[in-house]
Amino acid sequence: MTPPAIVILGAGALATARRVQTCYPGAQVHALQGRVEADVAYTELAAHLHELYARGTPIVALCAAGIVIRCVAPLLSNKGVEPPVLAVAEDGSAVVPLLGGLAGVNAMAREIAAALDVAPAITTSGELRFGTCVLNPPDGYALASLTQGKRFVSDLLAGESTRVEGDAPWLDNVQLPRATGARLAIRVTPKAWDGGADELVIHPRSVVAAVCVSGTKIAEQVLAALDAHELAPLSLAALLAPIERMGDQGLSEAAEALGVPLRFAGLPEASPAQPSAPAASHLLEAALRVPYQTLLQDANADLALALTRAPIDPDTIGRARGRLTVIGLGPGSAELMVPAARKALIEATDILGYETYVKMAGPFRADQQVHGTDNREEMQRARHAFELASMGRAVVVVSSGDPGVFAMAAAVLEALDASDDPRWAAVILDIVPGVSAAMATAAQAGAPLGHDFCMLSLSDNLKPWSIIETRLRHAAQADLVMAFYNPISRARPWQLDKALDILREHRAPETKVVLGRDIGRPGSSLRSTTLGELRSADVDMRTMVIIGSSTTRGFTRGAQREWVYTPRWYP
Ligand code: SAH
Repeated sequence: MTPPAIVILGAGALATARRVQTCYPGAQVHALQGRVEADVAYTELAAHLHELYARGTPIVALCAAGIVIRCVAPLLSNKGVEPPVLAVAEDGSAVVPLLGGLAGVNAMAREIAAALDVAPAITTSGELRFGTCVLNPPDGYALASLTQGKRFVSDLLAGESTRVEGDAPWLDNVQLPRATGARLAIRVTPKAWDGGADELVIHPRSVVAAVCVSGTKIAEQVLAALDAHELAPLSLAALLAPIERMGDQGLSEAAEALGVPLRFAGLPEASPAQPSAPAASHLLEAALRVPYQTLLQDANADLALALTRAPIDPDTIGRARGRLTVIGLGPGSAELMVPAARKALIEATDILGYETYVKMAGPFRADQQVHGTDNREEMQRARHAFELASMGRAVVVVSSGDPGVFAMAAAVLEALDASDDPRWAAVILDIVPGVSAAMATAAQAGAPLGHDFCMLSLSDNLKPWSIIETRLRHAAQADLVMAFYNPISRARPWQLDKALDILREHRAPETKVVLGRDIGRPGSSLRSTTLGELRSADVDMRTMVIIGSSTTRGFTRGAQREWVYTPRWYP
């Protein structure tokens, strides 16, 4: 389940929010900016709840139920499956499930109420009568038909009894009206539902399909094999393939089409020197740690189905294709991190990066492993990330700002470029952009990058100083606005002064300069000055220096702050 967003409006709700948070690994507390600080800041409640709801994120709002209802009301009419939405009293005295009956809102209400030591305000008839939502079986099970399910529950509520066929351990302590000879039956089976109106069919996800085929028709072949055995597609738990096929696009597409995780297993005898396509049933043997029955092996032995007695957790089968996601955190504040980066962090098993940035990206759950390192060990970190990812882990490498701007994305690609390890090549690699320091600083100042500009790192650690001088001269001659990263450090004390000397040969002393320090972080500062007045003592390694072009200008309105911008046109 996606971890819920726990939304608060003021400091009075924070303690309760933190208690709710303990129920859900990965859940974050979203707090109204300016009122209270928590994990994620938002600026307007209605817009924020809208966005969360539209994205399908479960919502636990610590405010009046009425407020929550008004905020999401405009979205309610044409929503198929809605996420759970709950209102919780900010002092923790009431838990009210509002929406998302089929997505487990009542179960959440019970969990949260238990953590807060109160009774949940459950209002769903079936749930009240039987103590559970029969139509919302636990993880590892899937309901065959919702329409049929609704009819079934209304029959039960009208006073009918039911039989239970098959293993339904979650119904053991439920007060269902049971009778052995009942007309109605809850049937837990991997077999496909035959359309009979008297049955509520629930499929345990207990079938694993092993495939050694490639191509575009894998999903169809698996569905045909299930069909041949009258097995429901919903009883499929995972698709299993040989480890050598990890990079195969057709397999990823098939798993997606079937709506199941894709897992991989290797066979000891399939050595790279002697690549033999392992028979599908051997794969099952290698990957399944529980007893199972082989249902089917096709003529070429490249497709096999295994049926286990109980639902099987896909995470226990072989291993996943590893992922490596390089993200940018933005300049510092959670608000300026893009949602895709947030998502990668939630899904990560391992997080790598320079200590300061890893801390900025946290807090992390107990099941997530954090590998903080010194900032200078970039290539080593990149290789470590690939090693972890090729073991099937979900690895995130964090950079500040944008990962592609003087940061880890290029180091990660450099490591991959230099490697011919097929395990590294099979890793799913994604790079998620972020708000770079130049953009964040420019936005605070106004629009100094409103016309042509360039970004330069003044660090001569990885390039000779002569190159930097040449680039500065050319950029100055071309009248480009310049954004300086890494402007100065203790190990590089004279370079900035030298750079400014070069610029002063080409630009007037009145040229606008913007200095942004720790933008988006606590204690941030922004000032504007001129090229003539700028001293290297005004700048440190946490500063972004933006040197204006001949047209960059500043103005103030009334007693207000100054705005700096570069017009879009040229005189
Ligand atoms: N990938 C980062 C840049 C890393 S280089 C990005 O896209 O922003 C590090 C340099 O970026 C620092 O020396 C400083 O010049 C600048 N920088 C990074 N974060 C900053 C911030 N929050 N405020 C101002 N400058 C920052």
